[in-house]
Amino acid sequence: MDSKILEKVEKVITDIHCCNACLGRQFGNLLSGLTNYSRGIALKIIVLMEWEHRYRIQDVKATIFSSLLSKDFDIGIKSLQRHFPDVISSSKPCDICHDLLLADNLDQLTQKAFISLKEYEYSTFLVGSIFPPVILDSEDNIRSSYNLEFGESIKAEFNREIGKRLQSLVPNVIVEFKAPDIVVTYDLIEDKVLIKSNPLFILGRYRKLERGIPQSRWFCRKCRGKGCERCNFTGKMYQDSVEEFISEPFLLATNASSSKFHGAGREDIDARMVGTGRPFVLEISEPRIRNVNLDQLKIQIEEKALGKVEVEFKGFTNRAKVRELKTRSTKTAKAYRAQISLNPPIEITETLKKGIIKNFQESIIKQRTPHRVVHRRADKIRDRRVITFRFEHISPQEITVFILCEGGLYVKELISGDEGRTTPSLSMLLNTQAIVTKLDVIEVLEPSNSLLSTNPAQSD
Ligand SMILES: [Zn+2]
Ligand SMILES: [Zn+2]
Repeated sequence: MDSKILEKVEKVITDIHCCNACLGRQFGNLLSGLTNYSRGIALKIIVLMEWEHRYRIQDVKATIFSSLLSKDFDIGIKSLQRHFPDVISSSKPCDICHDLLLADNLDQLTQKAFISLKEYEYSTFLVGSIFPPVILDSEDNIRSSYNLEFGESIKAEFNREIGKRLQSLVPNVIVEFKAPDIVVTYDLIEDKVLIKSNPLFILGRYRKLERGIPQSRWFCRKCRGKGCERCNFTGKMYQDSVEEFISEPFLLATNASSSKFHGAGREDIDARMVGTGRPFVLEISEPRIRNVNLDQLKIQIEEKALGKVEVEFKGFTNRAKVRELKTRSTKTAKAYRAQISLNPPIEITETLKKGIIKNFQESIIKQRTPHRVVHRRADKIRDRRVITFRFEHISPQEITVFILCEGGLYVKELISGDEGRTTPSLSMLLNTQAIVTKLDVIEVLEPSNSLLSTNPAQSD
């Protein structure tokens, strides 16, 4: 050992009463594979040997040993009792940690968390801590006074020591720094153990096969969820929602407190969502159970939804996926089928048909925020592209069309024109009032298999 280090250790031990861990931690970044507790014992033994030698040659007085005798340094006591049969271990607490890091105390604190954790299912965890400033300050002061440059922080040691103990109590759990299932935080100021169960994220796609169902739970505007006459004391504007059909079985299965539904965009309440469905991420907050069977939940959801909603689950995901869904939603192509009424009726000739397709297909539509949403969205003009426009059924009163377009295009307004706010529009091109009577979203395309790059020329 570097004699300079030994000198520092001697000075620290002489002035400060510290437990093994607190002494060892001041040199924690020297040598790996040792606990600070073991480092502390090793250092104390060396100093004890040195001092005993000096004592024998009568270089130091017996009183010097008292500073070495912490509660957790039995070896020192046994050795000293040879010379001083009356010597007993010190009951003075550690000047740095106030005995927080003594093994018994760490064991007790671990038990406290272990008991609270029994109601959770988890395979990864992380321990954190909030320390009283007085402890952090006293350690900082000692470091600077004695120029101790190899120290580890007391928080890091505390978190690691509790982590090791917890890991030994719960089989098959591991410490995970990035995305642990559970975070255990010791608030050492308030003397509390806080358990946080991180959310579960489930990726899937839903189909909405009946009109009149909103995507998310919609509280009654009048009572805001409390229940009133207007909402028939349900607290809701609509009895059902895609969100509730999907989340309720999950809340039960995971014994969770709440959930959030993140859709990749949303269709209108009166539009169906068919085809392969719309991607979504379901976020389950504070789950107690994490291992849920997605196949079984799919069955439960669909049984309860009575054919109104269907789901496919792709598996578990993370928060990054939620951001990805939200940001790419407007870049994703969507395919629609719209049933349109024409008033007054109009004969659509081949020439007229060709003209409309030419105006829409691969064209940029200028769309000012529609009247129906301008109360909640900024009033501005957007450019959105129609990729494919196709007639599927034609009669003078009613037509059906297929539209593939960029995400964010308001299809109802593409047809109606929204009093001139969308141009061109079908109403404008036909010179009659065209209104969407039924709308289905038939595909929400993933960017990878998006038809944006192809040029479908068919137009029957
Ligand atoms: Zn200590
Ligand atoms: Zn109400």
